[in-house]
Amino acid sequence: MVYLVGAGPGRADLITVRGAEVLKSADCVIYDKLANPALLSYARPDAEIIHVPKRIGSGSCKQEEINKLLVEKASTRRTVVRLKGGDPCIFGRGAEEARILAEAGIDFEIVPGITAAIAASEYTGVMLTDRDYSSQVVFVTGHEAEGKTESNIDWLLLAKLPGTIVFYMAMGNLDFIVGRLIQNGINEETPAAVIADATLPTQKVTKAPLNLIANKCKQEKVEPPAIIVIGPAAAGDTNLNWFMKKPLFGKTILVTRDRCGNADFAAKIISRAGNPIEFPTIKIEPLTGRTEFLQALAKFNEYHWIIFTSPNGVRIFFDYLQGLAKDARVFASAKIAAIGTQTAAKLTDFAISPDFVPAIFTTKELAGQLTGFTNLRDKKILLLRSQLASNELVELLRQAGADVDNVPLYTTITEKGDCAWLTKRIIKGRIDWLTFTSPSCVRAFFEQIKPDVVKSGNVKVASLGPVTSSQLEKLGVRIDAQAAEHTIDGLLDAVEERQSENWLSNGP
Ligand code: SAH
Repeated sequence: MVYLVGAGPGRADLITVRGAEVLKSADCVIYDKLANPALLSYARPDAEIIHVPKRIGSGSCKQEEINKLLVEKASTRRTVVRLKGGDPCIFGRGAEEARILAEAGIDFEIVPGITAAIAASEYTGVMLTDRDYSSQVVFVTGHEAEGKTESNIDWLLLAKLPGTIVFYMAMGNLDFIVGRLIQNGINEETPAAVIADATLPTQKVTKAPLNLIANKCKQEKVEPPAIIVIGPAAAGDTNLNWFMKKPLFGKTILVTRDRCGNADFAAKIISRAGNPIEFPTIKIEPLTGRTEFLQALAKFNEYHWIIFTSPNGVRIFFDYLQGLAKDARVFASAKIAAIGTQTAAKLTDFAISPDFVPAIFTTKELAGQLTGFTNLRDKKILLLRSQLASNELVELLRQAGADVDNVPLYTTITEKGDCAWLTKRIIKGRIDWLTFTSPSCVRAFFEQIKPDVVKSGNVKVASLGPVTSSQLEKLGVRIDAQAAEHTIDGLLDAVEERQSENWLSNGP
């Protein structure tokens, strides 16, 4: 079975639900340049991934190779996904690939995708249709225009069209296209807009009257992929440019957690129109093989309270349980507390609804609020957390009369990154924000990057909360934003707020 799947334009989460679903089931994924590689994270770890970086339209030979590959893979693999940018059949040669499969007697399904023209228009406020001035839209390829002796494009018809013309693959031919339209009688002052990297944080819109658009694109160094919109609609409505008005639009934000945490964080940045760079500084290492942990597990039913302090702790604990073919029933009658809404949310993933989540979730607050919530005298408490966590919580709970077992569940070690590359980018001002979500990330980051690089550059620094901030302050690093609610969303809210203040005082 071959699925010809539209990946959508640019941004990975614009794929359809059906597209993501078949991608998850694929034994083999064949994808091209315009499909966002982030989509490959949907694929199974054992799926065969084949990149076919065909330059659009550059000779039929390459396309023939892809066709051959499709048939070959379909004969040896159960499920093949052919992932194509935008919609598979809008200037995507999906129809040609489907035909080859039909001829070879191979089953196929086409999963439509959002084509570039539609996404580009709706992400910029250059709407393609309008009740007043655009009752028709045409999608035209700008590539076949030049060099072909017999063009299939009816230039006269386009020049007279009362509506919107959208050219795909036209950046290399812009002068020629504009020339043909003007020769055929279009008003040379017709509005034109070029939209590059639609839906991505690097999205760029260039507007000018048709006769000036090619020059303006050269001046502004507009690079493909881009679509060109011509007609009254191209003037656009800046009030509708919702995407580029987002406070984090185009901002490059470095995330410094472990790999898994960075991926979650990056997805949140993308959904706020920012541009994440993942720089893992730490690796989380489970300590579930240690006797201390195993002994605690053996007497789980003796504890009155079990406390988790991070989503990582919850994940590592349940990974271990799963390995033993056990489940949440090990908690028996013990009550469970969680520091932070994210820790609580992670517990609910495993069908545990924590008995207690402090409203303000620092260590001190947990202890204070827990003693207010229940009498801890002579209660047996198990703390499952990082080996690096401070002893404060243990002491506070003991002061309240509890019998505390503090058992390390994991530790963090430094992960080395490409410091030379990052230092250069910070110095050049290519990174807008550095974000830190724990003291261990701060320590591991500044083991690799000199604090002076950050102090002297024009990069801003954001912190998850007071504990992380105090670690930064120890190094003399200025903090430009600190989350009021100590979560990733809280941190991004603080960064957005700071961006909006800048925007109000300096303009975008
Ligand atoms: N099947 C694709 C189009 C493939 S042709 C679709 O339905 O979108 C390749 C052309 O698509 C590029 O030359 C460019 O004109 C357009 N394109 C693709 N992705 C784009 C993007 N993110 N922004 C602007 N144009 C894009």
